[in-house]
Amino acid sequence: MGNSGCERITGDQALERLLSGNRRYRDARPKHPNQTPDRRRELEDEQHPFAVILGCSDSRVPPEVIFDQGLGDLFIIRVAGNVVDNMVLGSIQYAVSYLRTPLIMVLAHANCGAVSATLSAHHPLEGQLSCLTNAIQPAVDLVRDQPGDTLNRASKANAEMVAERLRNSKPVLFDSVRAGMLTVAAAYYNLGTGGVEILSQ
Ligand SMILES: [Zn+2]
Repeated sequence: MGNSGCERITGDQALERLLSGNRRYRDARPKHPNQTPDRRRELEDEQHPFAVILGCSDSRVPPEVIFDQGLGDLFIIRVAGNVVDNMVLGSIQYAVSYLRTPLIMVLAHANCGAVSATLSAHHPLEGQLSCLTNAIQPAVDLVRDQPGDTLNRASKANAEMVAERLRNSKPVLFDSVRAGMLTVAAAYYNLGTGGVEILSQ
């Protein structure tokens, strides 16, 4: 699978495409691109998504909606708290290695339930919930004593830590970043305004 007929865009261009889509959504003037039967048929045998989104499962943060994108545009992994394990990492590596996607965005959001559960957990949580909270705990520990909005501060710290982990994930992602083929950004979605801000890239 190559990029036949498609001009490969850079990570910076991919980021700008996401942010301009988010501005359309935020300002209530979405174009709903790439959702026609023609687009569906065009993609039947191949895909060239321009961004990987590692986002939260939260029902209020669907990437195709908040970035105003359509079929074949985004390669999305959603897990509560936008955390990484080996299967998530494998999915991301597939997109970077096989689909040559130039951008990964780790997308946190306001009032995240998984981060909130981590903040308020004073004993081990039931079942596999503790797998999630254990993954988020380092971000909570980082900001717990800082003043202000601890929940949203922890969500941002978590996204930045996950992004940094991806940048340093050897060999696939690390080598792609070093070769200038891959950008890894951390971002934060404001539930109230609908806007996305970049935390690091
Ligand atoms: Zn969440």
